[in-house]
This record gives sequence, structure tokens and C-alpha cells, in this order.
Amino acid sequence: MSALLEVEGLTAGYGAAAVLHDVSLSVRTKQIVAVLGANGAGKTTLLRALSGLLPAERGRVVFDGLDLRGVKVERMVRHGIAHVPEGRGVVTELTVDENLRLGSLWRKPRPSNDGIYELFPALARRRDHLGHQLSGGERQMLAIGRALAAEPRLLLLDEPSLGLAPKITAQIMALLRDLRDRTGLAVLLVEQNVRSALSVADEGLVLSLGRVVSRNDAATLAGDADLRHAYLGF
Ligand code: ATP
Repeated sequence: MSALLEVEGLTAGYGAAAVLHDVSLSVRTKQIVAVLGANGAGKTTLLRALSGLLPAERGRVVFDGLDLRGVKVERMVRHGIAHVPEGRGVVTELTVDENLRLGSLWRKPRPSNDGIYELFPALARRRDHLGHQLSGGERQMLAIGRALAAEPRLLLLDEPSLGLAPKITAQIMALLRDLRDRTGLAVLLVEQNVRSALSVADEGLVLSLGRVVSRNDAATLAGDADLRHAYLGF
């Protein structure tokens, strides 16, 4: 099957300093690909370059036939890419319901929030609460729920486990697996928590100093002690 997302030779960074060097990867429909690597390896930068927050200096990014170079974020979202940034980006002055409505802003017809509340019953109970009244786990769920409200085919998900209790992280990973299996959602998952990422991912790639140093199925990566010691710190 051809890839949903195809990245070839991507070089990107901040100003004159390239952070990513010649990165190539692909993600298929119904596939979760984990992006692993030490602090500063370039994982967040990769997601930002893919979602258009950061311009690519070189390389090609094609999503379902659309070359993403220069494409506005709105068009990307309409085409099926949603990004959950590191730090989550929930609007703390808006309610849960309003945050979710923001997620579906560019969908026509605009879906109701009911589907998201089915996925996250905890959010349904808090629909009229403001973002700043939520716990860390609820905010992460809201950030993911808001991205899903755009009805994406590819979710770019940055560090969902950051600051969360293991139980909440496990719930989020189970949800990703369920969405992949039921709806065919593809996910590019950036995670510091290697074990939890590889427990849900089909494949993983390891970044070091902005380059892809390994790519393999998740079980093989989890069992590769040399690679873990060299790049993942355990
Ligand atoms: P972490 O897990 O710590 O978030 P990461 O793998 O996501 O690490 P990035 O955040 O992508 O790594 O950072 C990669 C490199 O880019 C680092 O050297 C970092 O200092 C640099 N960098 C990140 N953000 C900026 C920025 N806004 N301006 C300049 N350099 C940046």
C-alpha cells in the first residue's frame, strides 16, 4: 500500500541552523510510527516542520498526494492532518466545549462534539469548565480531542505522556490503538517514554542529532539493547 505521508530528504531548522538533516520516513494509513530519541534530537522540530509551523529548507513532504510545501495550515487541516503540539496548546480561557469547537472550525459540515465526548467521557462531564480548571490529564485529553475534532487521517502527536500519571498515559495509548484499528487513523507519535511508545507503535524511528539512525518494527527496536543504550538511555 502506498504511504499516506511520505517525507524525503527533509532538512529544516531555526534560522541558519539546520536541526533536521536529510530525514526520510513514511507513514501508512492505520499505522502508528513512534519517533524516538534523546532530548534535543529534533523530534519536536520534525513535527513542526511537517505541520508547516517551520518551513522546510530542503526536501519533499507529500501527504495523500498533496505536496505540503508552502501549503497553509488551514488547507492541511482540511486535507486531514492535525497536530497536537508539545505543551498541548489548550486555550485556557475557553471552555472544554469551545476548545473542541475550535478543532472542527474548518470542517464542513461541522461535526458536533458528541463523538469526542464518547471517546473522552471525562471531558463530557467537564464540558462547561474552563481550560485552566482542568487537570493535566484532562488538558492532554482535550488537546487530543480538539485535534480529533478536525477528523484527521494523520495525527502528529507530541509527547502525550509529558507530566501525566502512568495510568492516564496508558489510557491515551489504548485510545490511539483503538482509533487506529477502528478508523484507520495514522499517528506519528513523538515520545520520551520509549516503552510506552513502543507498546502501541507498529514501527519506530530513532533520531539522533537530527538524523534518522534507525527505523524498524516496534518489537525489534524494543529488543535492540545496543540501540537502546546508544540512543535511548536505557
Ligand atoms: P525534547 O524531547 O527535549 O523536546 P526534541 O528531540 O523534541 O527534544 P527539539 O525540541 O526538536 O528536540 O530540539 C532540537 C534542537 O533544536 C535542539 O538543539 C534545540 O536547542 C533546537 N531548538 C528547538 N527549538 C528551537 C527554537 N525555537 N529556536 C532555536 N533552536 C531551537
